Amino acid sequence: MPEYQTVLYENLTPEIVRVRMNRPEARNAQDLRLTRDLNDAFDHANQDDLVKVIILSGEGPHFNSGHDMRGGTGLGFNDVRPIGTWANFDLEGAEGAMAKEEEIYLQMCRRWRNLPKPMIAEVQGKTIAGGLMLAWVCDIIIASEDAEFRDLVVGWGIPGVEYFAHPWEFGHRLARQMLYTGDWVSAQRAYDAGMVNEIVPREELSEYVENLARKIAEKPSFGLKITKEAVNQTQDAQGLWTAQQAVFIMHTLAHTHWREVSGAGIYMGDGAAPRPGGGARKAASAAN
Ligand code: ZN
Repeated sequence: MPEYQTVLYENLTPEIVRVRMNRPEARNAQDLRLTRDLNDAFDHANQDDLVKVIILSGEGPHFNSGHDMRGGTGLGFNDVRPIGTWANFDLEGAEGAMAKEEEIYLQMCRRWRNLPKPMIAEVQGKTIAGGLMLAWVCDIIIASEDAEFRDLVVGWGIPGVEYFAHPWEFGHRLARQMLYTGDWVSAQRAYDAGMVNEIVPREELSEYVENLARKIAEKPSFGLKITKEAVNQTQDAQGLWTAQQAVFIMHTLAHTHWREVSGAGIYMGDGAAPRPGGGARKAASAAN
């Protein structure tokens, strides 16, 4: 089986692969290395003729604490060949900054969402901001009873995470409320809103997901692929792709605005002096 620095890859059966984010000390915060490891693991499963279903899970008490804003494992944008179409990450102003967000977040999430094999997110504990995107790119989300979800970036002056899908996932009423307040959404409320497929006890979560994967894997692979494509195309015809594209431009505008105002690319509090050169806010991945 392939080995990665931040991801564990395991064939549960020839047809089922578990891809487990393995940065529990950072609550699986997403840095560039985790992003690349996930992408390589998904590609490996996708290119294996026998694999039909991919499970995405996170090691430790929480599924994912969002984007790593503490520097991560140190892999740089120019250390690896881009997966998406944007590059020139070091250019000044919005040009380089937007390229980074295209590469690591928007285009990467869309790429994963469009992988032809069904993916199941196995979600426990906290899922914060960027972590939502990792669950949302999966076809099915199974949550434990203690799971809860939050996107707090409106408090930083940003209109939600880069892969903007809140109204599609939660319905627009709950989407507005959770974004405006930054409040947690419980597993039950996410289930009621249609974001979560099933809620199961924490101790039964992995077994439940694996049994579901086995059931799906009984179906012919081509049937699964074109059915996934059918649902994806329907969502895009309903406007998901178009709306995301528009919101991403606002997202980029917001970072550009706050870089001018605070130097950090996000709102740093009223009266914050501009900080040339910027600097990341530390509270971002505090899911303990
Ligand atoms: Zn951003």
